[in-house]
Amino acid sequence: MWQQARWNEPLLFEVSTCSKPTFNITIDTDIVREVGDVKNYLPKEILRSELPRIPNLSEIEVVRHFTRLSQMSYGVDLGPVPLGSCTMKYNPKICEELIDERVTGLHPYQDEDTVQGILEIMYHLQRWLAEITGTDECCLQPPAGASGEFAGALMIKKYHIDRGESFRDEMLIPDNAHGSNPASAAMAGFKIIRIPTSESGEVDIRALKAVLGSKTAGMMLTNPNTLGIFESRILEIADEVHGAGGLLYYDGANLNGILGIVRPGDMGFDIVHLNIHKTFGAPHGGGGPGAGVICAKGELVDYLPVPTIGFNGSKYFLSYNRSKTIGRVSQFYGNVIPLVKSFIYLLSLGPEIREVCEVAVINTNYFIKLIKDLKGITIPYGDNKFRKHEVVISLENLFRDTGVTAEDVAKALLDRGVHAPTIYFPLIVKEAHMIEFTESESKESIEYYASIYKEVIEEAYNNPEKLKRYPKNTSVSRLNQVMANHPLTRCPTYQMLSKLRKIR
Ligand SMILES: *Cc1c(COP(=O)(O)O)cnc(C)c1O
Repeated sequence: MWQQARWNEPLLFEVSTCSKPTFNITIDTDIVREVGDVKNYLPKEILRSELPRIPNLSEIEVVRHFTRLSQMSYGVDLGPVPLGSCTMKYNPKICEELIDERVTGLHPYQDEDTVQGILEIMYHLQRWLAEITGTDECCLQPPAGASGEFAGALMIKKYHIDRGESFRDEMLIPDNAHGSNPASAAMAGFKIIRIPTSESGEVDIRALKAVLGSKTAGMMLTNPNTLGIFESRILEIADEVHGAGGLLYYDGANLNGILGIVRPGDMGFDIVHLNIHKTFGAPHGGGGPGAGVICAKGELVDYLPVPTIGFNGSKYFLSYNRSKTIGRVSQFYGNVIPLVKSFIYLLSLGPEIREVCEVAVINTNYFIKLIKDLKGITIPYGDNKFRKHEVVISLENLFRDTGVTAEDVAKALLDRGVHAPTIYFPLIVKEAHMIEFTESESKESIEYYASIYKEVIEEAYNNPEKLKRYPKNTSVSRLNQVMANHPLTRCPTYQMLSKLRKIR
């Protein structure tokens, strides 16, 4: 139903031939005539000894090449991308439409008086996001979720240092957390204390209490957590963490599970980051840069990065007036274009933003209803409780019965032309499939996805060997995933850089 093209497009270099007349770049410019050949000004040792091998193609060949490439790629504009935790929702075209040279033509060094429009947009976005999160102020600067987290971790660190409690060096993080949480906290110099998940799929409060103490700097949580389960004892958790002198950090990368219904600030969180590129309609995953807005409450506002956007009643301005700020975390004002997209997204929804959450949650639970009785799968933790924005399925039984893994099933899904879920995350679920449809998917598309899912699981029981050989009906079959990532030393670019920088 959503199949992308399956051919394997060659590189432009591979289809290039010398035999046809094509566009020719001549360097017969005024500058060359005036100053002579540039070669005269460059050191001999860096001059090329032969001409660069630029593909020789006609215009239509180039156009067709890129058109075919575009047809080979799969994205939300073609079909669902149910990658749990990634919130791959539809990016409304109105948001693209309104980003024109009025936005892209601005320069960050322009005088404030000449950019009042964009500052006004950013000012309102700050206010709206503070309202949505139940915090006092937001800074739009961090360019990604993880960099919002890192900024938040630095704020927590500085807060304790300012109070003369720099000995607080432990960050508590649940074992189902997104990997960026422990990474950001560790980068900020914290020791990571892992908090286990109880059978109910929520923070194990007894284990939490056991580790809270004078060294606690804070706790990073996402609620609903990565199992899609709402931490029902969040107020108690907040009291415990605050009681021990720590701060509570909210990972709001995926706000779809609570948007317009409850607010992190009201749950007791002190600092919140948001992924504009997940929850607020800006594209991501190869689709464009992100924004990891960071928000704070009460005295933590003073620690936010600078600048934020201020308004004095008649003029918008860049405000650096924050006594305890951790400083700048990104060049200029962050990635402005996704911010404007999220402004348009919010403006188009208004108070109906609540429906985003409602539909996303119904979609998750409808999918669960369609697949939960399939042989071979279980939905661990939380004892059949309703899920919020996403669900994590375990294929452990299927693996035990047939030897077919979560990855094999994911590859078989690709073979049938649907996008695979997130696999092997969170780490506490064996043979995990993490699925999130967002508000974008219709009842029909969820039913279709569920039918394909069912077909694959049944085939795994009937013919497990076949599952090991998928995908066949795709441009490339199974990639060597280790090679793709690991032996950097085999990568020509890396080799070249190593030589240049003399790094090993
Ligand atoms: C995506 C995600 C992040 C990190 O966001 P990036 O923009 O990829 O850095 C953090 N936490 C959760 C729960 C996420 O899903």
